[in-house]
Order: sequence, then structure tokens, then C-alpha cells
Amino acid sequence: MAKKGKKVEITSRRRFFTDIAYSAGLATMGGLLWAGYTQKAKSSPLTLRPPAALEEKDFLKLCIKCGLCAEACHNRPSNIDRDTGKPKKSTLKMAKAEDNVTIGTPFFTPRDVPCYMCDDIPCVTVCPSEALDITKVTNKKTGELDFKMMDMGLAVVDSNSCIAFWGIQCDACYRACPLMDKAIKLEYDRNERTGKHAFLKPVVSMYDCTGCGMCENACVTEKAAIFVLPREIALGRPGDHYVKGWDKKDQQRVANRVDKDITTHDKRSAKKPEDYLNRELEY
Ligand code: SF4
Ligand code: SF4
Ligand code: SF4
Repeated sequence: MAKKGKKVEITSRRRFFTDIAYSAGLATMGGLLWAGYTQKAKSSPLTLRPPAALEEKDFLKLCIKCGLCAEACHNRPSNIDRDTGKPKKSTLKMAKAEDNVTIGTPFFTPRDVPCYMCDDIPCVTVCPSEALDITKVTNKKTGELDFKMMDMGLAVVDSNSCIAFWGIQCDACYRACPLMDKAIKLEYDRNERTGKHAFLKPVVSMYDCTGCGMCENACVTEKAAIFVLPREIALGRPGDHYVKGWDKKDQQRVANRVDKDITTHDKRSAKKPEDYLNRELEY
């Protein structure tokens, strides 16, 4: 009996180790597959991150994918439906495989649900890793949170599909903006085609727009004619050799530059352009 008992013990122990080895193998293989998969599942450059997020590469290094920001966003008091007492669809989502965003990281899609620019910015205050940097939304003088300092992106207007540019009266985006008349204004323009009507065109201020996406969410066209893009995508870059002589901040930018950061196009090394107009025709 004792022998039998020992055999059972040895067999079960072997099985235990075999199981561990098998699981470890699976885990390693799974880990490799998962790593490969998450590498592939990189974020689209159009991904919009929560308020106060660091630059994308630093954000990805620091975000531990805990989901606390999305949870805080979901449970914020203003997200509770008055009729049902339950939270509504929330702004921040944690990326899943099908989202075209690095899996497990927070993002939002303004056309679906915009950011409501909460005064207390609960998504940022709860972040344990500084992937959401509270100093980016803290007023240095008062030490208080300031939602106007958010910079999730920049709203861009497609003048071809915005019906206000056709002369049709529409101010849906303007009215939806929490920073109306600062981040977005309506600019008057004469309608030369009819000679008697006016255009009231929405114009976004790159200095004041936070990228909350309330305008995109409210836009009446089938596909939003105003939409938020990450700032690096929405804005151009003139290069350090163009300086506004009348702008002290711009001069400071150049004064502060580090030589290795300068990226200028070396015209001397570029191929000389063909002078088609003055070239003698050869027949
Ligand atoms: S500030 Fe925006 S993202 Fe943050 S909790 Fe409020 S609605 Fe959500
Ligand atoms: S709370 Fe911070 S660390 Fe956690 S998922 Fe959100 S951004 Fe990442
Ligand atoms: S994204 Fe739109 S609604 Fe939000 S601040 Fe900018 S212009 Fe206003």
C-alpha cells in the first residue's frame, strides 16, 4: 500500500511538474505572442489621449494601463443619468484589440463621447503614474486645477463640408464649445455669390482650444466638418530659421534652441531644380 501510495505521489508530482512546464511553455509562448500582438497593435497617430497626457512616446512608457482614469471618468457625478441614477456612456475608454490603439491604454473618440472638461479633472488626479501630468493643468500662480489648460488636441474645420461656409446658418459647434468666443468664434464674411447674405464661419483659436471635442460631437453634418486632431498632426512646424521679428516668444524659442534639435532643409545638398521656363527647347 505504501509503495502504491508513493507511486501515486511520484506520478502526481511528475504530473504537477509537467503541468508547470506545460503552463510555463504556454505562458512563454503566450507572452511572445501577446508581446508581438501588442507591438503590432500600435496606436493610430490620430489617437486622442486623456487631459494632461504626456507626449505619446513618454505616455506609453509611463502608463501602467491600470484604468483608473477611465473609471474616474465613468463614475464622475456629472456622468450619472438623472432618470436612471446610473452612469452614462463615458468619455475615456481602455483600448481593446479592435480599437487601433495600443491595447489597454486610455483614449477617447469625441464624435462618440467628448470630454466634458470637468472642473476637478478626476481622470488626472487619480493617475498613479504621472502618465497624466497634473502640472500641465495646474495654474502655477494659484496652485489650482484649471481645465482651460487642457490640451488633448486641436479642432480643425473642413471648410468644404462645413455648411456655414456654404452660407447656411449653423452655429452648432460654436454653441457647444465650453470656451465659446475664445476657443471658437464666428467670423462674419460677405457672401459675394448672392451679394446680400452673410457667412458666419467658425474659426478655432489654436491658443485656446483644448481639444475637448464638444464641437465635433455637436456638428450636424453626416461626417463631422469640425474634428479634433492631436496637435502634432493638426499644426505645421516652420523650422528654427523662420523667426517672427515682432514676437518675443518666437525669438525666445530660437534663443532656447539646442543645436542638435535644429532640423533644417539643407538647400545646398538638394538637387538644383530644373529651370523649365528658360530651358532652350531641343528638337
Ligand atoms: S475631464 Fe474629460 S476625460 Fe477627464 S473625467 Fe472629465 S470628462 Fe472624463
Ligand atoms: S490612470 Fe494613468 S496609468 Fe492608469 S491607465 Fe490612466 S493614464 Fe494609464
Ligand atoms: S475642441 Fe471644439 S468645443 Fe472643445 S475647446 Fe476646441 S473648439 Fe471648443
